[in-house]
Amino acid sequence: MPVKKTLISFLLAALFIVHFPAAFALKSECRICTRGPSELIWPCGLPFEDPGYRIYGPDGSERGGLVRSEGEVCTWRVGDYSRRYVLMDGERELSSAVLTVHVVPQNLPEIAAPPKGTICLTFDDGPCENTAEVLEILAEYNVKACFFIVGFQQKYLDILPRIVAEGHTLGIHCYDHRAYRWLYQSAENYFSDLMQVQQIIYDRTGTVAHVLRFPGGSRTASFLAWALEGGYPEFYGRLADLGIRAYDWNVQPESGTKTTEGTIIDFTHPTEPYEYAVVLQHDTRYFSVKALERMIQWALSEGYTFAALDASFPEIHFYD
Ligand SMILES: [Zn+2]
Repeated sequence: MPVKKTLISFLLAALFIVHFPAAFALKSECRICTRGPSELIWPCGLPFEDPGYRIYGPDGSERGGLVRSEGEVCTWRVGDYSRRYVLMDGERELSSAVLTVHVVPQNLPEIAAPPKGTICLTFDDGPCENTAEVLEILAEYNVKACFFIVGFQQKYLDILPRIVAEGHTLGIHCYDHRAYRWLYQSAENYFSDLMQVQQIIYDRTGTVAHVLRFPGGSRTASFLAWALEGGYPEFYGRLADLGIRAYDWNVQPESGTKTTEGTIIDFTHPTEPYEYAVVLQHDTRYFSVKALERMIQWALSEGYTFAALDASFPEIHFYD
């Protein structure tokens, strides 16, 4: 009996010695490489899609494996980044590959002065339960507008493709409107929040936004602008790298009133005829939504034209 046991142990040990180096050699010959080129140029502000890696076995065929990925690409800041993919065997690194990503500034369109009497309607804080009604009124008069959206109200986001399909522009407001203090505390907070909204727009519509409205306007954004070394010029410069222009407003018919009638009266009695009006409304304020149709009727009868705000329009900043 002991002899038999010893023999079995001996055979098992021999088998291990014979096979282990072979298995070891096979694993060692696996290699990992980037899927596609090892260097990429990526437009700043476009949500990053990691192309990933491929693993090849000793016979050259593609196979799976345990891979650790290292290094983040920050798409809201121009710079060079690397992603490293490491093929692992337990704790041991078998092979690695590096993807270099050059995040470069986006090109913005030239600014063109709109024809005199252009009105850009803008709606902040949606989408919400009133957004469909706004779209229906706009469609009835073939008026195009811009929606500066928030991202946190998941249940309303299904309307985003419709907004784009009907010829309106989508702009970024912020992900969560309830967090001003957090939002403007640091560039990291602000730009990661912005990218979160950009990602939502991209995922839902396949397009990206090129216009933005600061929550609270550029006055409130001063908390961050003054914290940045270069102040507002740096803030706007960073947004330009992202392919984004920022717009405050110069007409605010809701401001002095909380009524439909007050909103209409304010809008239809400008002190001077509108030359280039960027109108702030909120689709979340139903009294304002109810004012929309009569506002449009009045403007059309006065000979004004409506346009969907995009990055080719002159910026409106309370602060520069
Ligand atoms: Zn807002």
